[in-house]
Amino acid sequence: MIFHVLTIFPEFFDGPFEHGVIKRARDTGAIEIRLHNLRDWTSDRHKTVDDRPFGGGEGMLLKPEPLFQAVESIVGQVSGPSRTVLLSAQGRLFDQKVANDFSGLSELLLICGRYEGVDERVAEHLADDELSIGNYVLSGGELAAAVVVDTVARLLPGVLGNQSSAVFESFQDGGHAGAMLDCPQYTRPAEFRGWKVPEVLLSGNHEEIRRWRRRAALEKTARVRPDLMAPSPNRD
Ligand code: SAH
Repeated sequence: MIFHVLTIFPEFFDGPFEHGVIKRARDTGAIEIRLHNLRDWTSDRHKTVDDRPFGGGEGMLLKPEPLFQAVESIVGQVSGPSRTVLLSAQGRLFDQKVANDFSGLSELLLICGRYEGVDERVAEHLADDELSIGNYVLSGGELAAAVVVDTVARLLPGVLGNQSSAVFESFQDGGHAGAMLDCPQYTRPAEFRGWKVPEVLLSGNHEEIRRWRRRAALEKTARVRPDLMAPSPNRD
């Protein structure tokens, strides 16, 4: 899968895309990340990407022309489904379900806003989707784009070492039935500062362990994220 990131700060991604799972996925060719500098699609001497908002108000907005030029020349060069997404505090919320949907794409183009945001015609006529990573305001779309790339990439075949590891995780269907969060996990030592690992996990009884994990995942979800629990006849 090809991820395109359109940004005025391509060097921002030297950190997030150069480590661990994402770095390995790039090295093996499971994913390709292409960083595009928005200023390459400007036509004036100063490479201007922003302008003042009509009607007055604080700050600057990314202007439409370079964004349209860029997106129209970047996407559609490979066959298969593609999608153009504007990262925006005003978008619908990005979650694991959206990540799963995106994992079937051949190309995903992420537009990073800056300053006070982006001319609304980009959301209306250029992007297929306007996505937010949470109900808070970032200073730019770059961190949000890194979140989306990371989340989608680890769902792709060959990216995680263990094929089943993306299935049995928080928010992922096919995990611990009914629970949305992963179960609590422990590693050695079996006792640390007097806190013991649940006995059942040391028992070697796989059926018992499976049942404990399922129960523990449900309990933790109910305690920490009751909003995620599916309504059930046992609850009101
Ligand atoms: N004035 C805007 C915020 C602009 S912040 C508003 O109040 O809605 C500048 C840029 O950061 C945005 O264009 C967007 O690309 C990015 N951004 C900010 N918060 C974000 C969020 N929660 N999710 C995704 N992108 C975000």
